[in-house]
Amino acid sequence: MTMRTLRPSKPASGLNPGGSNTPGSAHSPPAEDVVVAGGGLVGKATALALAQVGLRVLLCGVRPAPAAPAQGYGQRVYAFNAASRRFLDSMRVWSQVPHSRVQPVARMQIAADGAALQFDAYAQGVEALAWIAESDALERALDLALQFERGARLVPWGVEQAQFDGAHWELTLADGSVARAGLLLGADGRQSRVRDWAGIGLRSKPYGQTGLVCNVRCAQPHGGTAYQAFTEDGVIALLPLADQDDDHQVSLVWSAPDALATSLCVAGAEGLVPRLQTHLEALGAAHLAPLAAVGEIGAWPLVLQRAHSLVAPGAALLGDAGHVIHPLAGHGLNLGLQDVQALAAVLAGRGEAQAIGDARVLRRYARARAEQVLALELATDGLHRLYAPDLAWLAPLRAFGLTGTNHLSPLKRLLAGYASGLSVMA
Ligand SMILES: Cc1cc2nc3c(=O)[nH]c(=O)nc-3n(C[C@H](O)[C@H](O)[C@H](O)COP(=O)(O)OP(=O)(O)OC[C@H]3O[C@@H](n4cnc5c(N)ncnc54)[C@H](O)[C@@H]3O)c2cc1C
Repeated sequence: MTMRTLRPSKPASGLNPGGSNTPGSAHSPPAEDVVVAGGGLVGKATALALAQVGLRVLLCGVRPAPAAPAQGYGQRVYAFNAASRRFLDSMRVWSQVPHSRVQPVARMQIAADGAALQFDAYAQGVEALAWIAESDALERALDLALQFERGARLVPWGVEQAQFDGAHWELTLADGSVARAGLLLGADGRQSRVRDWAGIGLRSKPYGQTGLVCNVRCAQPHGGTAYQAFTEDGVIALLPLADQDDDHQVSLVWSAPDALATSLCVAGAEGLVPRLQTHLEALGAAHLAPLAAVGEIGAWPLVLQRAHSLVAPGAALLGDAGHVIHPLAGHGLNLGLQDVQALAAVLAGRGEAQAIGDARVLRRYARARAEQVLALELATDGLHRLYAPDLAWLAPLRAFGLTGTNHLSPLKRLLAGYASGLSVMA
């Protein structure tokens, strides 16, 4: 194993990296209040947020973020909404993401059936509609913040086995060491094992689409505009990346039917560009041509997934472990970060006599997240269905609806407000 811990730390009594594999005695207090399984963005944000409210956290399965590329951008790029940005700010993380790598979105254009819906940050009275940044840049900022957080301990090993005795979890890590805690958090992604260990069921529906991502160079500046179009080839989005001198790039997120995605992947990044260019007109982005691919294509099968509950005795799920939505609204990670914020608030606000894994406390977290998760699941799934190829006969009606919405400022303000996440997390 070549991974390393991010912060050298003395083994605590509940964790034995030396591998002697001696479980803590049933009577010894757990070394940590909380064990978080999953060192992705949501797991790192969870460990940081909980340590900042005074809890002792062990984060398992951590890899340090890759260094910034000398030129260009990492492949995974996210649109962060205002609620995520505010939360990351409050944890002193956002300020560590270099400004030069963050692109505020000034305008957003959503096109379908020859009609368009436009949002403008200025008209909405906000600083930006969203902020586009690389996953790795945010992860580097989280790594840095975690280094200074005494309450968080990070290990590279994943959780391999888990048992709950009604009050504490006993967790075996991949190096054979054993950890104990009163609360186990699953931030371990869509294939979550914590979900299984906690006995939480799952509803899952494949979309028959693959999310393709690739950075693309444009001939002209994008002007901070994000473009999205519903096309017969799936949903295509171009997210603007911060200009580096005269280099103008966008991050392509293409939710393509599986068969098309396979052929595009076989053709490779350069082969994908000609097909993309045929959609520039529909995107309202013809002025960006000619395009050139930068780097490789990344591909993710798209699913709609929802855990039956976000909580179980002594356990809770966050991020993709609890819910996976279609990326057409660019909200999956935002939902995950808002899970973290809600859980940290609930745990910090629990009564002195309440155990960390108290069922009433955890249910408060589940209730706090129910509305937003359901609303985004319904909205993204509804849009996906509405623009399905077999509903092409609805095109005139859809175009009428989109044009009508574009002329209704109060409705646009409502939509933009909801997308910002602030109305939910206020
Ligand atoms: C094409 C595409 C585009 C997207 N664009 C956006 C966007 O613009 N904005 C947005 O908000 N969201 C977006 N999303 C959604 C976003 O990618 C996910 O919601 C987010 O990455 C989920 O993060 P996570 O930390 O919950 O899970 P993951 O990133 O899957 O991380 C889970 C981690 O847990 C680890 N792990 C697994 N098992 C264990 C174990 N037993 N023990 C310890 N660790 C374990 C894994 O190794 C991994 O590191 C997009 C998704 C796709 C597919």
